Amino acid sequence: MEKNNGYREPQKNDNFFNKNPLLVFAIFSIITVIIFKSFFEDGSIGESGISPSAQTQSISYYELKKLAEAGKIEYVAIGEANIKATAKGEPKTTFVAKRVIPDETLVPMLEKQNVKYGAYTEKNWLTDLVFGWVLPVFIFFAIWMFLTSRMQKNIGGGILGIGSMKKLMNSEKPKVKFADVAGNDEAKEEVEELIEFLRNPDRYIKLGAKIPKGVLLVGPPGTGKTLLAKAVAGEAEVPFFSVSGSSFIEMFVGVGASRVRDLFEQAKKEAPSIIFIDELDAIGKSRAIGHIGGNDEREQTLNQMLAEMDGFGAESPVIVLAATNRPEILDPALLRPGRFDRQVLVDKPDFKGRVEILKVHAKNVKLSDDTNLEEIAKLTAGLAGADLANIINEAALLAGRENQESVSQQNLKEAVERAIAGLEKKSRRISPKEKRIVAYHESGHAVISQITKGSKKVNKVSIIPRGLAALGYTLNTPEENKYLVQKHELIAEVDVLLGGRAAEEIFIGEISTGAANDLERATDIIKSMIMYYGMSEVAGLMVLEKQRNTFLGGGMGQTKEYSEKMSEELDSYIKAKLTERYEAVKEKLKLYRDAMETMTAELLEVEVLEKERVEEIIRSFEDANKIVRESDEDELHSPETSKGKDA
Ligand code: ADP
Ligand code: ZN
Repeated sequence: MEKNNGYREPQKNDNFFNKNPLLVFAIFSIITVIIFKSFFEDGSIGESGISPSAQTQSISYYELKKLAEAGKIEYVAIGEANIKATAKGEPKTTFVAKRVIPDETLVPMLEKQNVKYGAYTEKNWLTDLVFGWVLPVFIFFAIWMFLTSRMQKNIGGGILGIGSMKKLMNSEKPKVKFADVAGNDEAKEEVEELIEFLRNPDRYIKLGAKIPKGVLLVGPPGTGKTLLAKAVAGEAEVPFFSVSGSSFIEMFVGVGASRVRDLFEQAKKEAPSIIFIDELDAIGKSRAIGHIGGNDEREQTLNQMLAEMDGFGAESPVIVLAATNRPEILDPALLRPGRFDRQVLVDKPDFKGRVEILKVHAKNVKLSDDTNLEEIAKLTAGLAGADLANIINEAALLAGRENQESVSQQNLKEAVERAIAGLEKKSRRISPKEKRIVAYHESGHAVISQITKGSKKVNKVSIIPRGLAALGYTLNTPEENKYLVQKHELIAEVDVLLGGRAAEEIFIGEISTGAANDLERATDIIKSMIMYYGMSEVAGLMVLEKQRNTFLGGGMGQTKEYSEKMSEELDSYIKAKLTERYEAVKEKLKLYRDAMETMTAELLEVEVLEKERVEEIIRSFEDANKIVRESDEDELHSPETSKGKDA
């Protein structure tokens, strides 16, 4: 307790409870005692109906017995040491006498006289103390402890120093190994070196090497991010501290920041260790997103986290792994060097990955000889590892219900159907028709980005649905340390975005809703080129829009600083520009038709294409058709190339 108080300084978000725990405790104790007392003593419960308002008179036992024998008594209450008798008639008088014990004649006499009798529990100072004070205080204390441990687990040593975070912080030494994480080979490769760091931190520290601090695991739910983080801890045999970002918001109200501090304190003490933060976006949402002054609490928690990550150096090898499904909404501050500067994609498994995951989980159940996990993998495109684990388990349950010896292929198929029916509403599983559209659409993006000078090159193309919005995606490699973007690069980006829609039009013959987001982004780029970067004829060097203040949340009270006429011209210019680019992109795709067909067919087969394969398809097509395109390498292109062109 002392230790905890030692490092805990007053916090802005410390509320009344945290500042005055003793005072609050005392007040609540007294209230509880009053409630308790009034509840248990009112109406003299336990005194067998003898009203406390009646007159009480002490007499001898002998006298009391005589009164009863004379038929003057209506009711007798027998206590351990005393006996009370209520006289007949009004006003009600109660006689109290010390009992003579034993006296076997008392009850028979009362029976004979037809006097009602009963027993009562006497109050003495001890029971009074216990029931009146100790018990209510104790009950109150128990409730208090329960609430505080739930709500804040630990606020600098907890209320009265009890309920230390140590037992509440979720620390374990996982037994999970890399072999338990199937598929995801790239992700595994990327985190592999962390294990080495954690096993032999001294080796690196001695050399002055900086051990990575933060790694962001990015991917949809159920793809094994937690599992992977645990496996790193399991392989390195280090403690694993896990918290969920949303718990900071939901459970540690008012104390998020000090919880973060405790977490890091604890992890450092047990270093080398791993901190795993699930749902990082719950605390790490960009401060620019959302309402003004929105969430003080969340911001403080986030700031504390940033401070903690900056605060520990090589001397305490703690690696923070965090998971998120939406890296794009994270506050950029979180992603700076020294924080979560590494991102590892943990994606939904492709066909091969699904087979492997099914195999890992099938180890736990008894499969019959007729099972074919590859067939199951084919049926489950778009499902995550967690779904596959569920399918195996569901199949085992079905087999159990039928009292079978082992799990059959039929059980597995039925489990797949159930899982899909259940998921249909949540995450979509795409139909073959949609799959074809998506494959062409993504191939369109990929081909254009591969062949266009100045575009970011393809890293991966996938038609595995990712989250709710995207049915497929083309991942481009971000360029490192790029501060300036040239005009032709902006145009290239527009082209790449339009590539999806153009491919649908050419190869499917009809366009779909799938390009909405692409078109929005393409429009935005053209707009900013005109209005902000002075890259068009229509506005020239005139800046039509000041840099948006993201802190005020875009869209709020933006004043137009140009004429209606200009506004009309802008609209038609943007439209014309997009059309022009779209036509150009369509021409390019038509030229690369065979490459498009090859890529789409392969995507439909294996679902994911890596960078190397994309390059190969394009290169062999170009070689076969003797197409030479502008290379990205000639960095300083002659002024002529860009002259005469405008946004
Ligand atoms: P996430 O953290 O990405 O939401 P989890 O790691 O909690 O996903 O995954 C939930 C469960 O799904 C795991 O405990 C495991 O049983 C199963 N699972 C997910 N991905 C895999 C995988 N790649 N290999 C084996 N099992 C997996
Ligand atoms: Zn697209």
